[in-house]
Amino acid sequence: MLSEIESHPVDRKARVQLKPVGYLKRSAAERVCDFDEVILGFNGDLAAEEAARCLQCPEPQPCMLNCPAGNDIPAALWHISQSEFIAAAQVFAATSPLPEVCGRVCPNLCQEGCVLSQRWGAVSIGKLEAFVADEARLADGLMIAVPIEKTGHRVAVVGSGPAGITVAEDMIKLGHEVTVFEAWPEPGGVLIYGIPNFKLDKSIVMYKIQDLLDAGVKFVTNTRVGEDITVDELLGQYDAVFLGTGAGVQAAMNIPGEDLPGIFKSTDFLVRANVPQDILPEEQQTIPDVGQKVAVIGGGDTAVDCARTAIRLGAEEVHIVYRRTEAEMPGNAGERKICLEEGVQIDYLQAPVEYYPGENGRVHSMKIVKMELGEPDKSGRRRPIPIEGSEFIREVDTVVLAVGYWPDPLLGEKTEGLETHKWGLIKVDESNGATSKDGVFAAGDNVHGPDLVITAIASAHRAAESIQKYLEGQVYLDE
Ligand code: SF4
Repeated sequence: MLSEIESHPVDRKARVQLKPVGYLKRSAAERVCDFDEVILGFNGDLAAEEAARCLQCPEPQPCMLNCPAGNDIPAALWHISQSEFIAAAQVFAATSPLPEVCGRVCPNLCQEGCVLSQRWGAVSIGKLEAFVADEARLADGLMIAVPIEKTGHRVAVVGSGPAGITVAEDMIKLGHEVTVFEAWPEPGGVLIYGIPNFKLDKSIVMYKIQDLLDAGVKFVTNTRVGEDITVDELLGQYDAVFLGTGAGVQAAMNIPGEDLPGIFKSTDFLVRANVPQDILPEEQQTIPDVGQKVAVIGGGDTAVDCARTAIRLGAEEVHIVYRRTEAEMPGNAGERKICLEEGVQIDYLQAPVEYYPGENGRVHSMKIVKMELGEPDKSGRRRPIPIEGSEFIREVDTVVLAVGYWPDPLLGEKTEGLETHKWGLIKVDESNGATSKDGVFAAGDNVHGPDLVITAIASAHRAAESIQKYLEGQVYLDE
């Protein structure tokens, strides 16, 4: 993609000397007392100053090459540097339906590519993106434009997380009728029921859902496709079906005592602690009583989210227990730094082997074995190996398991002709998101496993393009 703004007469020699402006963040002491957002980001003056650090690099700009959605970052930063915030928001919105979300929760791949990261530090692209998206939202400046003439085509979207929202928006913009099916009581998927409020305020997601409603998208909630209605039944009512159901099924470690009271799966723990009760199923409307000592097992972003949640629920001692070292940790380093600021401890090269109950039957302690690293495994990361005789006991009041996630296997099991492979992941043609079943497309975490919001958006855009070709009666496998 060419940058919208071809060239700007910027003085690169002067700009390269400019240091990062710094964004606003609540203190650790203040933020652990509530579930409100931690990062306050930029105000207008700071945003313009920070964006003015951008060198407006010649094509191909490294930041754009690193962005899976192909956001025109230099153009947006130029507008921000001129205090043209709504124009900047429109640049981001041209390629991403969720800039206010990506700016908050994505690990900023674009910034890793920024040439200034080797100098004083990359331009703070993510937080600038969130700032201008918020400005546009507050000014009602980003309505979804839909054509007056409708095509008559009907598209069913299963799942209302990032992939589902992307396809729903792309389809409604093309004049199709769109209905989104969601298993939870409210739309938003992982954006509402997975990501904690202190990273992404739920009102931001709800505003986006309202935008889609205003554009004509219909939502059917409390409906699990595969159980309440089948994909084949949807195909009988719609011209195409998109599956964007994410990866919300939790993996288990299958070690003794794992089913004791007081041991939570991360998805259940986060939902109970972070989601308002009035939009939860009745059986999950209890906030976990975590006690004083909490262990979170795992090393990804979800483990960090759980640990930070446990701190906010009043735990005095929270340990993340991870079987490798920091070098192999899969999550966002920035989030990890924030969780350490909030008092979480990370125990590397350790893994649980057994849980023990106390007199009341609830988990009371756990046996942990120390690990060392061996040769790399299939993932390329060095394999953790238990050190014989290194076991020790730690007392715990609550344990949260955050060790891996897979798609709901129900869709594959209940849909004839829909091929899946290991752990229920849906098989697709990677170039266009077409599944093995005619008229059914898929993208996002139910295809590739847990990944970034922006990667789900990028693959969902590709699937939407294929759905459009399919609806137009074109052969969508020909490119
Ligand atoms: Fe600006 Fe960095 Fe992108 Fe260059 S790489 S255009 S400096 S944001």
